[in-house]
Amino acid sequence: MNPIYAEMPTTIFEAMSALARELGAINLGQGFPDARGPESVIEAAVTALREGSNQYPPMPGLPELRRAVADHYRRHQDIDLDWTSEVTITSGATEALAAAILALVRPGDEVLLIQPMYDAYLPLVLRAGGVPRFARLAPPDWRIDAAMLDAAFTPATRLVILNNPVNPSASLFDAASLALLAERAVAHDAVVISDEVWEHLVFDGRRHLPIMALPGMRDRTVKIGSAGKIFSLTGWKVGWMCASPALSRVLAKAHQFLTFTTPPNLQAAAAHGLALPDDYFHEMRAGYARSRDRLAAGLADAGYRVLPSAGTYFLSVDLPGSGIAADDVTFAEIAVREAGVATIPVSAFYAEDAVRGVVRLCFAKQDETIDAGIARMAIARGLFES
Ligand code: PMP
Ligand code: GLN
Repeated sequence: MNPIYAEMPTTIFEAMSALARELGAINLGQGFPDARGPESVIEAAVTALREGSNQYPPMPGLPELRRAVADHYRRHQDIDLDWTSEVTITSGATEALAAAILALVRPGDEVLLIQPMYDAYLPLVLRAGGVPRFARLAPPDWRIDAAMLDAAFTPATRLVILNNPVNPSASLFDAASLALLAERAVAHDAVVISDEVWEHLVFDGRRHLPIMALPGMRDRTVKIGSAGKIFSLTGWKVGWMCASPALSRVLAKAHQFLTFTTPPNLQAAAAHGLALPDDYFHEMRAGYARSRDRLAAGLADAGYRVLPSAGTYFLSVDLPGSGIAADDVTFAEIAVREAGVATIPVSAFYAEDAVRGVVRLCFAKQDETIDAGIARMAIARGLFES
């Protein structure tokens, strides 16, 4: 047995969702919407299932989806991609991350990870024989700075894994922070795997900045996206990797031995969705921003200090700032078992020197779920009153 997996706990997302199901708790832990999703995208999948092919699609993805990904990024992010040689469709961003890490990390390569980090990154890097080096972000700003990056980059740094917008901190890296990172990636001749699954979930008029567009980054970035997040259909597991032809050729070699292909009907529906008019994206964002504000206001009324959320499906509460002395894991355990609300302790996103006073909550829910979650969080707060 491989000790990397044998000794690993079940992911916090699954653990918390399983507890929520078992206890009948309101689940504001794992990030998934409880609404149905855009009808026209679901209909496009139904039509493709009935009328399209149900056999293996081409290994790099359906041409219509690869073209749609390139067109989408040209329209929304001013990036020019050649769909024939720079876009590979995967079974979710999770597979894209695995393919990219397995394809690009050689044993002994140093890989820079920015904590808090999404749970899949470190196990994949270790399994590929990479040597992790960590930068550490902390609340309330979760900012990168030059000194932190200079301490983490070494002559052996071959790869950086960036997540922007950031899960779980719900923060965005601004242009200056991305430039700091890009300059160092160029200087060290490192590739950046840029996990941008939350690219459309940015609020209050903000604009997502793809690091691939920065000077020197075009041919050293693997940009990863996910239809699950863009269309509020997290179970679909349709993702993609965009990279220069030279990188894409290697990425596709890893993809072909992981899943080889992705269900063609869901690919066809994602292609339909990516071409939806701008209104869809504006309304989707506005709807989630309203949900964010509803949860934030309710939690503030219940006595919590809520940290700002600039993007994603998440916001966080600061436990010490809310007058709660317990650490995040203790709080989350008691909240789910005794108050009936599941949350995610943010320390789960750190491998070392964890931030232990922050829990993450998902606001991608119907108003009734949010209101019930707030009521349960108010009960949880009462349990910690001294
Ligand atoms: N990366 C990040 C940062 C995520 O938050 C998620 C899922 N929430 C994923 C990757 C996985 O995406 P997918 O479901 O498309 O595999
Ligand atoms: N990305 C989701 C979250 O952060 C979880 C995805 C998963 O469970 N693997 O909640």
